[in-house]
Amino acid sequence: YKIREDNKESIIILVTQYGDTKAIGHCMSIGGDDFVLKPLDYKMFMLRLSSCIKNYNLRKKNLSKTDRLYKRATHDSLTGIFNRSYFKDKFSTELIENCKNGSVFSIVLFDIDYFKQINDEYGHQKGDEALIGITKLVSKLIRKSDLFFRWGGEEFLILLPGARMEEATRVSEKIRREIEKLKIKGIRKLTASFGVTQCKVDDNQESMFKRVDNSLYLAKLTGRNKVVYNEEIY
Ligand code: GH3
Ligand code: MG
Ligand code: MG
Repeated sequence: YKIREDNKESIIILVTQYGDTKAIGHCMSIGGDDFVLKPLDYKMFMLRLSSCIKNYNLRKKNLSKTDRLYKRATHDSLTGIFNRSYFKDKFSTELIENCKNGSVFSIVLFDIDYFKQINDEYGHQKGDEALIGITKLVSKLIRKSDLFFRWGGEEFLILLPGARMEEATRVSEKIRREIEKLKIKGIRKLTASFGVTQCKVDDNQESMFKRVDNSLYLAKLTGRNKVVYNEEIY
């Protein structure tokens, strides 16, 4: 145990007396990689060691492959932030249940204004640059505990655990102003519209999304480049 604590990746080979199967069994079960018998045969020991190293490398390779696959499944490839399917994992019924028990969270849905024009005017490549620039900016403005997702196209969602609507609205307003100020080489101006809502005790996923969607819709309808919470204009 102690060796594993000090160095998680160490390879542990036991050196034991012939026939002590009980001790061998025990040690292997708590994390030994292999064992050799005393008196130590140098060649045998080196063979065992090289087989352990092979195993170790294989394990490591598989692990990093799993990491890569996991990352690809949960992140958006263009911007590097979380994707929509990962949101489904995070926005669990548990979150809604906790809300019934008194804890709060808010969501912010925002959409870049007239993004089609940006693409038409400057090209798709510039459009991509703008999306990346905006995600970098927003990532800097939110808290560590907030989760940031690409919802689709030029639409993004922020999940703010523990945040009341006032706070989520304040953050949104700050992001809105910063996007307005953001300089992406060659692009004249970028703005975005925001919908904000906090969970209510009798909410389910649908009802909450309806509110945030309607809020964003209202922000678009009433001139864009603004924040609307619970369908009321801020
Ligand atoms: P509104 O203010 O009403 O939101 O207008 P809009 O033009 O932003 O909205 P619309 O839905 O008409 O257009 C969204 C555009 O976003 C169309 C699509 O080509 C572009 N888009 C979606 N995903 C990407 C992407 O990954 N890269 C680029 N460059 N453009 C994208
Ligand atoms: Mg748009
Ligand atoms: Mg859109």
